[in-house]
Amino acid sequence: MNAPINEPSFRESVDLMFNRAVALMDLPPGLEEKIRVCNATYVVRFGVRLRGQIHTFTGYRSVHSEHMEPVKGGIRYSMAVNQDEVEALAALMTYKCALVEAPFGGSKGGLCIDPREWDAHELEQITRRFAYELAKRDLIHPSQNVPAPDMGTGEREMAWIADQYKRMNTTDINSRACVTGKPINAGGIQGRTEATGRGVQYALQEFFRHPEDIAKAGLSGTLDGKRVIVQGLGNVGYHGAKFLQEEDGCVITGIIERDGALFNPDGINVEEVKTWITKHGGITGFPDATHTAEGSAVLEEECDILIPAALEGVINMGNADRIKAPLIIEAANGPVTAGADEVLRKKGCVIIPDMYANAGGVTVSYFEWVKNLSHIRFGRLGRRQEEARHQLIVDELQGLDDHLEHRWSMSPDFKQKYLRGAGELELVRSGLDDTMRAAYQSMREVWHGREDVDDLRVAAYLVSIGKVADSYRALGL
Ligand code: NAD
Repeated sequence: MNAPINEPSFRESVDLMFNRAVALMDLPPGLEEKIRVCNATYVVRFGVRLRGQIHTFTGYRSVHSEHMEPVKGGIRYSMAVNQDEVEALAALMTYKCALVEAPFGGSKGGLCIDPREWDAHELEQITRRFAYELAKRDLIHPSQNVPAPDMGTGEREMAWIADQYKRMNTTDINSRACVTGKPINAGGIQGRTEATGRGVQYALQEFFRHPEDIAKAGLSGTLDGKRVIVQGLGNVGYHGAKFLQEEDGCVITGIIERDGALFNPDGINVEEVKTWITKHGGITGFPDATHTAEGSAVLEEECDILIPAALEGVINMGNADRIKAPLIIEAANGPVTAGADEVLRKKGCVIIPDMYANAGGVTVSYFEWVKNLSHIRFGRLGRRQEEARHQLIVDELQGLDDHLEHRWSMSPDFKQKYLRGAGELELVRSGLDDTMRAAYQSMREVWHGREDVDDLRVAAYLVSIGKVADSYRALGL
């Protein structure tokens, strides 16, 4: 569901939020405009012979800001893709990368297609052709423009794109770094598929470390037992909801999908719903919850945390005043329109903004890109050395244990955990957690430290625009 027609478009909505923040900054008007505008959007129409006839597809790649290169941003496959949308998403990428200190400018791409209408072989032909069109203009390139998955795409499409680029650049030793979100066997990194959902979990964990912030949302306690409604059980929504349920004790009371919503105040098992969707193509018929055909109505149910993780504009002027969640975490890009944002803020709802909440994906993409350029798996050099040093300490403690005639001993669990050196997955999760904590701290300082800032979104924009402005100044602009 997109925003009602009388609301600003997605890009205008992002600009309105940007404007609200820059009004509190002291930027020269020229620089303000330079940061806000999208540098370029390439539109391509290409034909692919399929099922006995030529089908024409329309694709986009927007480059919002090149204050750092390469520029970075996902490629979305959806019938709703259009220029306004990719430009809005590219702008969000600029701010997101700056906020989490991923050294990229902002970009985004999209192909107007319903991927469910095509089989895997056809999708490969279409994806390779789209990749060819972008790569020949350096809109896919390890040092210029590095795509990643987004709605409707995943590691399979990224592997096709990487291979297509390699075929066109046979001597480029860094060709694998032309795209992130690839499968492990094609140069991917452990933990990338789960990264955005994992980042949503880390963001909420960090939020719940601060009683003052929890109180601002009118909540108390920890994540344990919090009632959560999630919209979209795709890559981001599924991983986020699953980790919150299995590791933090959250109760997932509502799941909203294309074909309606499931609701059960006692909780719904995320893994079981995912298995059901894979088998039946949707949530309809899932036995352990009430099904509502009008899914978006469940956005308005009582809960502690609402996680929109599907589309933009789903919380808009049409339903904002009926949203009861005191805390919203924007796992999707742009799920709350600028108008709805104002309504919700006035009601006291705390919104953890998209540019921070879903930055886990680009953060781990950054790690993957670094891995591709360094041509070595993280942890390969140090892991066994770390284990050997831990073994030394364990042996020493063991000696102490013998000396004290076994009046004290190490628990076997400690030994097992302590002895294991960090592999790639552990390092990726550690880097992601660190990034999410540091970025939250930077927003929080502004949120609590400035009298003229009363929400996390403006705080996030102030931090990120400040960093982009510094980069432009360093370039002499
Ligand atoms: P996805 O395609 O894996 O999943 C989207 C899910 O939403 C699907 O399960 C789909 O059935 C569901 N959906 C579609 N229309 C719906 C509707 N009208 N109501 C309810 N559910 C609906 O996509 P994704 O990668 O999880 O991306 C979701 C959002 O997260 C997007 O806004 C995307 O830009 C953002 N995001 C994704 C990543 C990433 O790494 N994949 C990173 C950052 C941000």
